[in-house]
Amino acid sequence: MRLIFIGPPGSGKGTQTKLLAKRLGLAHYSTGDILRDAARLATPEGKQAQAYLAAGQLVPDDIVNDLIFAKFRGSDRPTRFVMDGYPRNLAQAQAFDRMLQRCNFDLDGVVFLVVADAEIVRRLSARWNCPNPQCKATYNMQSKPPQRNRTCDDCQTPLIQRDDDKVETARERLKIFHQLTDDLLAHYRKQDLVVDVPGIGDIETIYQNIVASLQQRKRD
Ligand code: AMP
Repeated sequence: MRLIFIGPPGSGKGTQTKLLAKRLGLAHYSTGDILRDAARLATPEGKQAQAYLAAGQLVPDDIVNDLIFAKFRGSDRPTRFVMDGYPRNLAQAQAFDRMLQRCNFDLDGVVFLVVADAEIVRRLSARWNCPNPQCKATYNMQSKPPQRNRTCDDCQTPLIQRDDDKVETARERLKIFHQLTDDLLAHYRKQDLVVDVPGIGDIETIYQNIVASLQQRKRD
């Protein structure tokens, strides 16, 4: 299975892609995580990405493409994967298409998680993360709060709110998402790859809808 996920920030992309990866044995690539790790480790790409990350703006395409292509180089490259947050615009999608062609890989689907803007702003400002790089658990103060106030259930590290989840930055990220996503979705709709799945409800229901929609697409 080779999948791409598209959805506004806070749509549950991270949760659903990790679940799919775990249950179906897929490699999981989140460009957000890869970029945040690079920034934390102060690698050359991380240093360039830092200001864009903090402002909620997209990191330049060549940096992101290079980081992703590096994962597909070499004989140990993944053959089954789910992409979380990449490609994010038409230019990245075209570059990724060319790379997939070189690997002889077809995509099985592009999942579009649909969630309304007002719900997104509400969710993002409730989102808190475990900063422990070995853990990275995510919480939502409304729907999935930690058991003890602002402390990670798994590793007891104090939770933090990402700079880019604060309300103003969340609105900026949403604006950018809408500017870029029409072209991106049109590109994949032309290839008949897109399944639209509502990102509302509990995690398991959304997961089952995703799997059913992908199976239905295969049958059609
Ligand atoms: P995410 O965790 O997917 O919401 O991404 C967090 C931040 O990482 C975004 O606001 C961007 O600054 C950056 N980012 C993630 N994926 C990409 C991408 N494909 N292209 C450019 N920037 C990205």
